[in-house]
Amino acid sequence: MKKRMSRGRTSGTRTESVLVHPRTGEKILLKRSGRKTLSVEIRPDASLLVRAPLAVPEERILSFLEGHSAWIESRRERLIDRIESMPSRALSDDEIRKLADEAVRDIPKRVRHFAPLVGVTYGRITIRNQKTRWGSCSAKRNLNFNCLLMLTPPEVRDYVVVHELCHIREMNHSARFWAQVERVLPDYKVQVRWLRENGAAVMRRMLIE
Ligand SMILES: [Zn+2]
Repeated sequence: MKKRMSRGRTSGTRTESVLVHPRTGEKILLKRSGRKTLSVEIRPDASLLVRAPLAVPEERILSFLEGHSAWIESRRERLIDRIESMPSRALSDDEIRKLADEAVRDIPKRVRHFAPLVGVTYGRITIRNQKTRWGSCSAKRNLNFNCLLMLTPPEVRDYVVVHELCHIREMNHSARFWAQVERVLPDYKVQVRWLRENGAAVMRRMLIE
């Protein structure tokens, strides 16, 4: 049986700190350990991780980074390009089920809260995974909501709930309908804009393979 005796401070000593670059202000994760050499790594979010021996002074680390700056920047640019061109990831069946469970707990609470404010009663509430709509309202006053709403901010969920509840009073998008929405949610246009700008990207997560 071999037993490693730990001698001195080098073995097993590790430190982790954030090094702020004095010139650029960039925050660099610095991991020191018993290693003998310096290394730099580009993390998935394009930030830097430096691994260094315990005793190497920061000046030495900074000049090491300076010496490798061309390599770092080209690798970083490539990574950023790749991140930006990536489509948002499709949801797995499991993730969709989880969202639906969350929606079952979340959406009916919002409906119960807003129905009296809109001044309506409603039938059943159904949560579905849909590719094209956030919610709907039937002639029988049954409400249907998309589980992807759980990927939107709570205020957006409120807006969609109020929108469908207002359809119980007005089965159209007339000026009277929008006046009802505005009465309950005076800032509803902010949420409409959010959906216009981000809704497609959220829906897309149901569509892509
Ligand atoms: Zn509508």
